[in-house]
Amino acid sequence: MNVRYNARVRISLVRYSVHMKFIQGRYLSVDSINQHIAEVLKRERKQKGWSLDKTAQATGVSKAMLGQIEREESSPTIATLWKIATGMRLSFTSLVTDTESSRPPTLLHRAGNSKTPMPEDALAVEILFPFDPVLGFEYMELTLPAGIKHLSDPHETGVIEHVTVIKGKLEILHRGKWIKLKKGDALRFAADESHGYRNSSQKPVVFHNVIHYPGRS
Ligand code: MN
Repeated sequence: MNVRYNARVRISLVRYSVHMKFIQGRYLSVDSINQHIAEVLKRERKQKGWSLDKTAQATGVSKAMLGQIEREESSPTIATLWKIATGMRLSFTSLVTDTESSRPPTLLHRAGNSKTPMPEDALAVEILFPFDPVLGFEYMELTLPAGIKHLSDPHETGVIEHVTVIKGKLEILHRGKWIKLKKGDALRFAADESHGYRNSSQKPVVFHNVIHYPGRS
């Protein structure tokens, strides 16, 4: 796709649904997203010369599940998408959107445009700026409902996350310690080791995350 667009993507851990709003006001269906994910997976496997077995080993996602995703028979969870992205050395957003190098201010986030209801029991991701191969980062807004914890496997070597709390209280697991953050607090940490996000409060927490992938194109 060659159009430039305002990408709005929201994914839930349990069952995901994704909407991408283009400048023309068109939304992509979940089917289109599944198709995109299938195409990226097949293309990247081919480019790397990886079999399904090898890909399963590298990502920790079963061969059966990878096959289902490639045949568009399954809507992967956000946890599965992270595993695939990490194991295949891809940015998260390149799996769910077209990543196109852009010059500011082409991509612009508009608040309140999402048509997807917020899940009550899982991490939700909304992509503000998809991964840009020139700039080397992706920028997303995450919402963690009350009492929910999300653990993340190490990303590839050198990946750095920059977390800023927009609303509520957040805890970040880093090197075995939960670091408490409140609204306005910002934390940069090495994400090439195990880490996690936790909301121990009674209200949802909203935070921004800028994920920098060094040397990625
Ligand atoms: Mn992470």
